[in-house]
Amino acid sequence: MYAKIVILAGDGIGPEVTAEAQKALEAIGRKFGHHFEFEHHLLGGCAIDATGTPLPDETLAACQHADAILLGAVGGPKWDDPTAKVRPEQGLLGIRKALGLFANLRPVKLFPELLHASTLRPEVLDGVDILVVRELTGGLYFGPRQEAGPDGDQAYDTMLYTRPEIERVVRVAAQAARGRRKRLTSVDKANVLASSRLWRRVTSELMAREFPDIELEHVLVDAAAMYLIRRPASFDVIVTENMFGDILTDEAAMLAGSMGMLPSASLGEATNALGLPRGLYEPIHGSAPDIAGRGVANPLAAILSAAMLLRHSLGLEREARAVENAVATVLADGYRTVDIAQPGERVIGTAEMGAAVCERI
Ligand code: NAD
Repeated sequence: MYAKIVILAGDGIGPEVTAEAQKALEAIGRKFGHHFEFEHHLLGGCAIDATGTPLPDETLAACQHADAILLGAVGGPKWDDPTAKVRPEQGLLGIRKALGLFANLRPVKLFPELLHASTLRPEVLDGVDILVVRELTGGLYFGPRQEAGPDGDQAYDTMLYTRPEIERVVRVAAQAARGRRKRLTSVDKANVLASSRLWRRVTSELMAREFPDIELEHVLVDAAAMYLIRRPASFDVIVTENMFGDILTDEAAMLAGSMGMLPSASLGEATNALGLPRGLYEPIHGSAPDIAGRGVANPLAAILSAAMLLRHSLGLEREARAVENAVATVLADGYRTVDIAQPGERVIGTAEMGAAVCERI
């Protein structure tokens, strides 16, 4: 297969971890006989420095012609002034919006060797394998809003959803559930919110019509927050609206302990030359300015993001599993970066960890 992959390395540790993810993709290409072409473009703080804008036209055009996009992270103290007119995060929001990426997928799978990294007890975490699908372009973060203004004492935000917005994201989640344990939990606040009552009704109708083979349950968001800590292994796929998803995905990420292990994918309606979603793949961590440039960042979240890219945008399930298995083997063989090491364990750097994964691929 031929595929064009745009890499937006970004700032801080972004270039360090995406370099290792690119090497893992190259190793997959060699082993399975695929030709991946890589194109690097600017996004975030580095783009502001070079061009004055966090999302240059050239970057956007390249992404619109790619089969998939791999992103590192953006931001850092250099561009942190919240009153600045141009900020690195505008590049991130801009690209998600321009590519119409409405579904954010965050798998949380725990590797047995790293159970100690979590603040929860190992017996609670045993068997955790969750996929959270968050609606990314609607709901409370995008509905009509009124700022308080200098003298005002009232402000509001609106949680607005339409049937097509709900259907398309639930469909993504249900399709993912089909390839997993066939269970979908839809999270809402239907006892209070009108938009949640619509969400619940549309979800039930769609599931009965298109996914009768998937077991559906509805859970209120407050209960879901509790169950994620109390019995996280009981979840398979969770689907929810934008703000609920924002909060629950961070809670779910903490089950795994380290940010350096968790990948994500953002998918939309736009398809690539293969007829699959032109997705954006990125580790969930930020640019980690405190460790940037030292070669110590954990590249596994970026490498696992590359595995998601193979699966969702290129349709290469076997290859995606080869990457995931290589990561699991590396951990079983005792390789640790500083963020996942226990006291006394030998610690290796970013490039060494990347090389260990490539060897096992
Ligand atoms: P962060 O995720 O960058 O770092 C939090 C902590 O986790 C730090 O101590 C860091 O060293 C550690 N860490 C993160 N990734 C790691 C890795 N791969 N290996 C080892 N340790 C790792 O979050 P932050 O410090 O809140 O934010 C730093 C900058 O990143 C800010 O400018 C923020 O706006 C930006 N940010 C960007 C994104 C993104 O690009 N998607 C997401 C979150 C934060």
